[in-house]
Amino acid sequence: MTNELPLPTSDELASLVPHTQGRAIYTVLYANRDNPLSIAQIREALGLQAGQQEQLGRRLRDLRKVFEVECDNNNLYTLKGKRAVPLALDGISAADRAWVLRDKRCAQCGRTPDEDHVKLHVDHKIPQAWGGTNDRDNLQALCSECNEGKKNLYATYDDFADEIQAAANYDEPHKRIGELLKAFNGKPVPSDLVEMVAKAKQYQDDWQKRMRELRVLGWRYSYTKKKDDNRVRSFFILEHYEPWPEGNIASVIRQQELRQKQEKLPD
Ligand SMILES: [Zn+2]
Repeated sequence: MTNELPLPTSDELASLVPHTQGRAIYTVLYANRDNPLSIAQIREALGLQAGQQEQLGRRLRDLRKVFEVECDNNNLYTLKGKRAVPLALDGISAADRAWVLRDKRCAQCGRTPDEDHVKLHVDHKIPQAWGGTNDRDNLQALCSECNEGKKNLYATYDDFADEIQAAANYDEPHKRIGELLKAFNGKPVPSDLVEMVAKAKQYQDDWQKRMRELRVLGWRYSYTKKKDDNRVRSFFILEHYEPWPEGNIASVIRQQELRQKQEKLPD
């Protein structure tokens, strides 16, 4: 799946990564291939100030389109290899593209090229940068306007992109949701973002239930609604969290629920 890594000073790297800072990050990761680094360590190695963090996050994301850079559960980064197909070339087959566009209708607003003269795009429901795949169930047709609106919405989460990606990477849905809430540090988290991260890796038909189940583990969060641009959006605010239990989270929740039920039963 991955190919050999080019040397930091090579012409190959210069052609793959046109931006100087991108190459500087590559050089740091390349020198530390056996030593996973945190964002803070990468920043320090580059001699950057804390305020330049956002830029670093963006360059690192660009770099990850070309190279396989692993981010582990402790948010440590390791350069693993070169992608056989860069993510920037979306890698969607012509057959899948045709399948997604078969209804000739925007999945969000319902407008069509024939009647409304909109242009349709193939969109990743969960962005590739957050671990979304090219599988058909992660693809949808969006008109230019809806596609642009979605991009703008995502841009508002740009500061949290690393946290979102780290949260979306966990295998268990409860952990994906919980880690996302933690990353927002008490700030309101839009419910559509929670839904997306909950559904990353594998589809969840009842992500709200997974969310409620966090309460069984002693987590507390509140729910609020805000109106903007004539659209009501809902948000979750994390108030209290508990460390993750040992072992499988879903089965710990099942046991806990059973115990609580038994306690309520009369003898
Ligand atoms: Zn649309």
